[in-house]
Amino acid sequence: MTPDWQQPKTAFVYTDELSQYQLSPEHPLRPIRLRYMHELMKASGVLDLNNVDSPAPRIATRKEIETSHDPEYVSIVEAISNGAIAPGMGEFGLGTSDNPVRRGMYDTTALCIGSTLTASELVTSGKAVVAFAPAGGVHHHAMPRNAAGFGVFNDAVIAMKAMVKAGLRVAYIDIDCHHGDGVQMGHYGSDQVLTISIHESGQWLFPGTGYVQEIGVGDGIGYSVNIPLAPYTQDDDWHAMFDKVIPPLVRAFKPDVLFTQLGIDTHFRDPLTHLSLTTQGFNLAVKKLGLLAVDIGKWVAVGGGGYDLSAVARSWTMALATMANYDLPDEAPKSFTLLSNLTNFADVPPAPNEEPYLNDIQNFNSGTLDEIRSMIFPKFGL
Ligand SMILES: [Zn+2]
Repeated sequence: MTPDWQQPKTAFVYTDELSQYQLSPEHPLRPIRLRYMHELMKASGVLDLNNVDSPAPRIATRKEIETSHDPEYVSIVEAISNGAIAPGMGEFGLGTSDNPVRRGMYDTTALCIGSTLTASELVTSGKAVVAFAPAGGVHHHAMPRNAAGFGVFNDAVIAMKAMVKAGLRVAYIDIDCHHGDGVQMGHYGSDQVLTISIHESGQWLFPGTGYVQEIGVGDGIGYSVNIPLAPYTQDDDWHAMFDKVIPPLVRAFKPDVLFTQLGIDTHFRDPLTHLSLTTQGFNLAVKKLGLLAVDIGKWVAVGGGGYDLSAVARSWTMALATMANYDLPDEAPKSFTLLSNLTNFADVPPAPNEEPYLNDIQNFNSGTLDEIRSMIFPKFGL
């Protein structure tokens, strides 16, 4: 390991402003989750490490948002945010239970997008080796002309388009439980961004896409990779698929920057999804992504889905510690009392899947692997 990576210069890009709103009173995405995470990080001492800085996020400009979104759609979001009534908003995916409208939504979204841009800029300029913007990533379903799946403006697309414009090739790895469809769409015709999404199959989960056959178009053919998994896949089987697909493809692509979306709605207690990862299974993935980042030299990380408050707080605290190359103790700090029953960072794992379900899961996943090996690997000489 080079000296850069023994104590990597780590930027944690966040402000509590990003946690202080609601999408709607009943909405499963509760931005307050980020405040619990932040308090757990503070109590754990990870923000006090010599190699960790906490720069404030900037706000994304309208011009930046319009690099990836239709100006008409951006105007509608801005108008609604300022209190206007927009009868045609349904056409833009707005005003649904997933994407309710509210005053100030443009501003909180622009700050969230800005946090991802700040992280990207710190890394691409060399001011940080790794930067984590946990409020980002959750917009990975947002499309050029519409909101979708809690996403309004797609921070990852906007940030990576700016990187490509600066001449950088980017590997995007999305480990959220849902397919990163908006990010895939944003770079579908490009060979400058390799998108890899490992997720619960769209057969069973929103957004119903993310099949291996979605391989890109034109120059982008082969640069859109999907790893759909069976529901109830647990740590070992998830990692078997990760290991067989992600490191070989990323190494063959030789990116300038690694960009990771670290959704933790894969967790076995997540209320919206059906994969069965533990926090330690998630953190092992972050460690493996970190090993890839060592070779690449630049690592931008964003958050994503995650609807179990304890899993979010613990996982992203573990992720930040992993990025900074710091070993957390097993026990969570006693001074953190915001969430009851949060005692250890690692989970007691759920009961293992029993036969014959385990066979069904492994057969489904090995079918995915066969398809990837025949449709994608030859493009990369694998
Ligand atoms: Zn998700």
